Amino acid sequence: MSAQTHLFLCLKDNYGVLLHDPETGATASIDAPEAAPVEAALQATGWRLSDILVTHHHHDHTGGIPELKQRHRCRVVAPHGEAARIPLVDVAVRESDKVRVGSLEARILETPGHTSGHISYVFPTDKLAFVGDTLFSIGCGRVIEGTPEMMWQSLLKLRGLPDETRIYCGHEYTRANIRFATTIEPDNAMLRAREAEVEKLVAAHKPTVPSTIGQEKAANPFLRADVPEVANAVGLAGRPPWQVFAEIRARKNRS
Ligand SMILES: [Zn+2]
Repeated sequence: MSAQTHLFLCLKDNYGVLLHDPETGATASIDAPEAAPVEAALQATGWRLSDILVTHHHHDHTGGIPELKQRHRCRVVAPHGEAARIPLVDVAVRESDKVRVGSLEARILETPGHTSGHISYVFPTDKLAFVGDTLFSIGCGRVIEGTPEMMWQSLLKLRGLPDETRIYCGHEYTRANIRFATTIEPDNAMLRAREAEVEKLVAAHKPTVPSTIGQEKAANPFLRADVPEVANAVGLAGRPPWQVFAEIRARKNRS
């Protein structure tokens, strides 16, 4: 049986996600921005929390861990490089490690840049990826602890996943990201198509997440720093892609 997911908003614009294995009943919360919305989601679904899979140490991804762990005695899985900065970690994981949620299996991708130890959880069989604050729909996380070159390499890893992989990110920023992306690639038809789709979703009060890697490759300027037209658009034709990425990220920070 395939994995089930349940997406909900937390805090101001964070996403919480539950991942459920119908075969065993195991359920993971991907990050834990705050306890109450996770509890509400568990109530709504009738699922029992077995695991918390943490992408990075920021408080808006970890603030709910102590309360949830106390109530559910769940296992906390977290990046090795940030385990000391995350509460109550049971298992610290690195690149290529496997993590099971019941019968579902994730492979760890280290995706540093936003934070120095940030990881993503990829479930190849279910074609799902939980990418925290590394990749957003039509955007990416701020490069806070790493370098632009490091972040570009992390984005390349995610870009290498199969096109149909569904991407769950940590925040609902899609509309603002599209507004910015159209300043880089105003004539990108796939970006304009995503813009129209997102306007409809927002008008219907629906989430714009998940998207797919295929959609992001076609329309997300941060995954397109090695496309000649994109380099040209920011005045860096012929320069290494990570430099083009750094320029796009700097422009977004100022926007
Ligand atoms: Zn963060």
